[in-house]
Amino acid sequence: MGCAYCSRKEKLTKEHIIPDSLLDIFAECDFTIRGNSYFKADPIIKDVCFKCNNEILSKLDNYGSNLIKKYFINEYEPDARLNIDYDYRLLSRWLLKIAYNGERSFKRNTELFKPYLDYIMGSTEENPRISLFAGLAIDTSPMPEYYHDNIKLQVITAPKFVGETILEPTDAFETSFRIRKNMNGLNISELKESFLFRFGSVIFLLLLWKDNSDLELVNSFEWIIENMYPYKLLNQEEREQTEIKRVTHAFNIHALVLIDTDIGMDFADRCSIGMFQGKDPIDIRKSLSLGWDEHVKEKRLKALENRKNIK
Ligand SMILES: [Zn+2]
Repeated sequence: MGCAYCSRKEKLTKEHIIPDSLLDIFAECDFTIRGNSYFKADPIIKDVCFKCNNEILSKLDNYGSNLIKKYFINEYEPDARLNIDYDYRLLSRWLLKIAYNGERSFKRNTELFKPYLDYIMGSTEENPRISLFAGLAIDTSPMPEYYHDNIKLQVITAPKFVGETILEPTDAFETSFRIRKNMNGLNISELKESFLFRFGSVIFLLLLWKDNSDLELVNSFEWIIENMYPYKLLNQEEREQTEIKRVTHAFNIHALVLIDTDIGMDFADRCSIGMFQGKDPIDIRKSLSLGWDEHVKEKRLKALENRKNIK
């Protein structure tokens, strides 16, 4: 078997799915969840040659983990707006690589990535037909994060763009809400596959369009997503700086597979604020999380020390 990236028959080395630089930053994330399956947050694959791994892919990991360190270790306030600078090519190559590694480890979808390999390896100037969106993951729920396993690092294949809203009003005045029973997904005809990544307080959505997709249709889907959902389209041509905002609410922060609309965000925020008779759900979570926060601090400090000792 050859290398998954350059297909040369070299000695193969280990490569992490979630880059170990991220596992160092979020050291408390001992395991992660993906769709319905859980795995130790240190899964590896062994089909990448030394050269690809160390000369090309590790540079992408460096770029990605520095971006996460710069902006997304912090937790933000619910109405935060964050300006980020990014390098579109490096960021999209990094995310494609992580998605490809993940799919190989689950022995799915591996052929899907063949058309993107040259781009990931940086050996073509041509941009593949993909779209990249970003937003902030901010926990506005009263539940401490550990109640739902530790999900600061996640890769989800085929997240669902909710067609309407996750919650629906039960009366005409929209004073009470319930979880919608039949949640239809948005039908995105030109889509080949999609991935959602959560790393700390950022969520990236990576959409891969069909090879023969109609560019105008792709542009209209991009427009629809940017205008119906809180996500921001990351541009590959203009200035690579943009402002992103919260894309999660109390009802999907622990179920990121469901992507809610702007209207759904509003329903969910009104509903969760109304549930606690004037008490802020975030204050409730913070008071329940004191011990956990200590644990996180200690784990991260230890990881930092270990890193220093290795160097
Ligand atoms: Zn290789």
